[in-house]
Amino acid sequence: MAKRIYFFDTTLRDGEQSPGCSMNKREKLLLARQLEKMGVDVIEAGFAAASPGDFESVKLIADEIRTSTVCVLARTVKDDIDKAWAAVQGAARPRIHTFIATSPIHMEYKLKMSPEQVLEQAEAMVGYAASLCPEVEFSAEDATRSDVDFLALVFDRVIAAGAKIINIPDTVGYTTPDEFYHFIQALREKSRLLDTVRISVHCHDDLGLGVANSIAAISAGAAQVECTVSGIGERAGNAALEEIAMILKLRSDLLDTEIGIVTEEITRTSSLLSSITGVHVQPNKAIVGANAFAHESGIHQHGVLANRATYEIMTPESVGLAKNNMVLGKHSGRHAFRNKARELGYDLSPDELNAVFEEFKELADRKKEIFDRDIETLLTQGMQDHHDYYKLKRFVVNSGNTITTTASVVVAAGGVEREGISFAQGPIDATFRAIEQVIDVDVALEDFSLQSVTEGTDALGYATVTLRHGDRHFIGRDASINVVQASIGAWLNAMNKVMHAIETNKGE
Ligand code: MN
Repeated sequence: MAKRIYFFDTTLRDGEQSPGCSMNKREKLLLARQLEKMGVDVIEAGFAAASPGDFESVKLIADEIRTSTVCVLARTVKDDIDKAWAAVQGAARPRIHTFIATSPIHMEYKLKMSPEQVLEQAEAMVGYAASLCPEVEFSAEDATRSDVDFLALVFDRVIAAGAKIINIPDTVGYTTPDEFYHFIQALREKSRLLDTVRISVHCHDDLGLGVANSIAAISAGAAQVECTVSGIGERAGNAALEEIAMILKLRSDLLDTEIGIVTEEITRTSSLLSSITGVHVQPNKAIVGANAFAHESGIHQHGVLANRATYEIMTPESVGLAKNNMVLGKHSGRHAFRNKARELGYDLSPDELNAVFEEFKELADRKKEIFDRDIETLLTQGMQDHHDYYKLKRFVVNSGNTITTTASVVVAAGGVEREGISFAQGPIDATFRAIEQVIDVDVALEDFSLQSVTEGTDALGYATVTLRHGDRHFIGRDASINVVQASIGAWLNAMNKVMHAIETNKGE
């Protein structure tokens, strides 16, 4: 009989830790809804003890999501577990995921604890978590660099204390498929109780083996895989959900597994994540890259035209990839727009919807064809938390190859209009220098990027700006047909996040 493999998605926790991928509460909820729609078994919503903002996001998701299990991360510390439970207890299926490191290097240098202390703390805190929450998962951080006998002992003790899922993470992305397979087999032999619970793995991609190691672990007996959409996550990222899902779906002949993932939702989920974070996947990324289903060579095209199976092992439709059709135009009404927004998975309040609809009409006046991606971009912009201390009033840029570029930018700062004027070599440089004149706070521009949302010369330009304030980074985004305007908008969006963080002394 086919073995059911459970998908544990950690895009909102591990994924959110990747540079440039932080999300606000509403964006996290939006993504959580899409993950539920895609059939993810467990959604790891966050680390409640990390900040009040993280706590609120977990609670928001736990209170709404009904089908998927909602999981919250906690160290094996009483206060973390109390906060985790307070955040997740409203879930239909709550889970507390508690972890402690078990490798010699982590225990000695990071925790400054002896193996005996780690063992005791793990056992006591799993017991405490199990007294609050019906489902407790335990992770041995840096498991793949831990002593196998010690690990088996830890597992036996935490299982006896109430852990129902045991996670074996390759925290630093160091193991190989063959080694990992044998490691898990050895643990199953040495531990008395491991086979009485669900085995999980959490693989990182530092050596590009995250997915391969996860598949090897399934062959070795794991029934839960921890992964992220598009493989985002700490450093080189986590194992990519869509790759594991398609491997298990396509090669069930080899692996004899079944999954609950609705693979037709994969493309939508990945593009929603990109719209929210402004971080796009590389074109040759498996399953969700722009070129994943493109056939360029003549021989391949000829083959595909004769019979698609000559060069396609799966259809674009099976991952929900539809043609980027023109969807709405200048004459589309509010009703059609609202339906489209719903179809794309966005649930906005009537006021927000009106505001985005106005922007849509403005765009439709300027752009001939409006694609799904354009509308997603507008909707994501409409979802931003608006802490608008700085607002763009007007700007003028004069540029050419025989003159010095000049820029004038007028910004309302807390309601007071200020003008910055600057000269530079190029329009973006001149504009950014002009903005710097009207900002009082000490920030440094760390990164700037500009991308077109769709093809065509009238495409929306999507600008992303990273500002550093102290030791923290703030990402701003904006979209407009006018790329200079999008760039200013992104700068001010980042700046408004800085102001919000200064006000609340935390930030999102
Ligand atoms: Mn991780």
